[in-house]
Amino acid sequence: MRGGTWGCSIALELARNGYNNVTVLDGEEVPSSTAAGNDLNKIMEEGTQSQDDTDAAYAWNRLHDLCTMAWLNDPIYKPHYHRTGYVMAASSDAAYEALLKDIRGREDEYHEVASAEQFQKTMPEGVLTGDFAGWRGFAKSSGAGWVFARGAIIAAKQEAERLGARFISGQQGLVTKFVFSSETEPGHNALRGVQSADGTIYRAYTTILANGANADNLLDLKYQLRPTAWTLAHIKMTPTKAELYKDLPVLFNIEKGFFMEPSAETHELKICDEHPGYINPVYGETSPEGEKVIVGSKPFARHQIPVESEERVRAFLKETMPHLAARPFSFARICWDADTVDRMPLIDWHGSDDIAGGRLLLAIGGSGHCFKTMPAMGQVVVEYLEGKVDDKTRRAFRWRPEMSTDRNWWDVQNRWGAQGEVMDITKVKGWTEIATN
Ligand SMILES: Cc1cc2nc3c(=O)[nH]c(=O)nc-3n(C[C@H](O)[C@H](O)[C@H](O)COP(=O)(O)OP(=O)(O)OC[C@H]3O[C@@H](n4cnc5c(N)ncnc54)[C@H](O)[C@@H]3O)c2cc1C
Repeated sequence: MRGGTWGCSIALELARNGYNNVTVLDGEEVPSSTAAGNDLNKIMEEGTQSQDDTDAAYAWNRLHDLCTMAWLNDPIYKPHYHRTGYVMAASSDAAYEALLKDIRGREDEYHEVASAEQFQKTMPEGVLTGDFAGWRGFAKSSGAGWVFARGAIIAAKQEAERLGARFISGQQGLVTKFVFSSETEPGHNALRGVQSADGTIYRAYTTILANGANADNLLDLKYQLRPTAWTLAHIKMTPTKAELYKDLPVLFNIEKGFFMEPSAETHELKICDEHPGYINPVYGETSPEGEKVIVGSKPFARHQIPVESEERVRAFLKETMPHLAARPFSFARICWDADTVDRMPLIDWHGSDDIAGGRLLLAIGGSGHCFKTMPAMGQVVVEYLEGKVDDKTRRAFRWRPEMSTDRNWWDVQNRWGAQGEVMDITKVKGWTEIATN
C-alpha cells in the first residue's frame, strides 16, 4: 500500500477496523513531495447520498456523503476542514451554462454574484480589488470551503501508526515490482506481495495499490489511467497581511483559476491556474499512416511551472487581486493525478489471470477531484475487503478497460480554461524561475 492521500486514509480505516498487520510502503516520508495531496489546501464541497441516480452518480454522492460526515465529525479530519464558503464563477457563456448545470437542484443553496461589487463583497474589504470583467457566478457561505490537505494526511498517518499500522519509506518503501508465487512455487502464479528498491520482499495476504499517478509503472492498467499534471504557485505574505485574508471562502473561476486563504503556518497564498491539464506523452509504435501513437503519459517531479501557467496565474490575479499580480512566487510545482476516462475512481480487485489467486485491490484514479473524498476512501476499501460493497458502487468503480480502448489522450473531460485543450508538457515555452528543491 502507498502512503499518499488515499493510502493514509486506507491505513487509518484498516487500523480502526482491527486489521493488525498493516504495512504502508512509500518511496518518501509521508507526506511525499510528489503526492497530489501534499498541498496547503484543497477545495471541499459537502454532499449527500441519493438513491435513484445512475450507478456513477449514486457512488459519487455516497463518497461525498461519507467524506462530508468525516470532515464534519471525525476527530482526525474535522480540525482540517475550514467551512468558509464557496464562490464559483465563469467568464464565457458556455462555462456559465456548465455552472448552472452543476448546481441544478441545489439552486437554493446559492446566491447569484454578477457584478464586480458583488464579487468584492464576498470577502473582507481590500482582498478582492479586481474588476472581475465578464465574471458571473454563485456563492454560498456554508456547506463548502477548504481542507488543510497536508495536515489531514499527516493526522491520518499518525493515528493509523498509533493504532499499529507500520509505515516504511525511502528505498525500503519504494516499490519496484510485484512478487508472484511462481518465483518460489513453480506451477503457481499468485501474487504474494511486493519488492522494494533495496531488494526487500514484503509478503502480504492482501496488497492494495494506491500510488496515484504512478500506478501504471507497476501494472498494465490497459490505458485506464492518464497521468495528468496541474500547476500551482505560492505567494508569500507578511503575517499582518495574511490576517486580512483569514477565513476567506474559496474563489474558483472554472476557466481561470482558484485560491483559498493563505496558510496559517507559512502565510503563503496558493493559486492554481485552471486548465484541462498537461500530459507527458509516451509513444508506442507508429501507425500505418505514419502517426505517432500515444500509449500513456509519464509523471515526473518538477518544482517549477510552465511560463504560460505563470502567465495564467498572473492574469487571474489581475482580474481578482491586482495588488498581488506582480509578486514573486515563493514556490511552484507541477502536481500529477490520474484521470480515468469517466473521472470515477477505480477501486476493484485486479481481474487479470496472472494475478488470480493473489489478492490485489486497486484504489486509484483520483481524476483531479478526489482529495475531498479522502476520508471515504478508507471506509470504502474496507467494504471491498469484507465483501460488503453495494452493487452500484462496485459497478461504478469497477475495472473497466472497455472504456479506455482507443482512449483519446487529449480529452478535456469537461474541464475548462487555458485554450480549452489538454497540453503537451514537452512543448512548454519554458519554466518559471523558482529554485528547485
Ligand atoms: C494541482 C491539484 C489540485 C487539486 N485540487 C483538488 C481540490 O481542490 N479538491 C479535491 O478534492 N481534489 C483536488 N485534487 C485531486 C487530489 O489531490 C487527488 O485526487 C488525490 O490527492 C489523489 O490521491 P492518491 O492517494 O491517489 O495519490 P497521491 O496523493 O499522489 O499519493 C500517491 C502516493 O504514492 C506514492 N508512490 C508512488 N509510486 C510509488 C512506488 N513505486 N512505491 C511506493 N510509493 C509510491 C507517492 O509517493 C505518493 O505518496 C487536486 C490535484 C492536483 C494535482
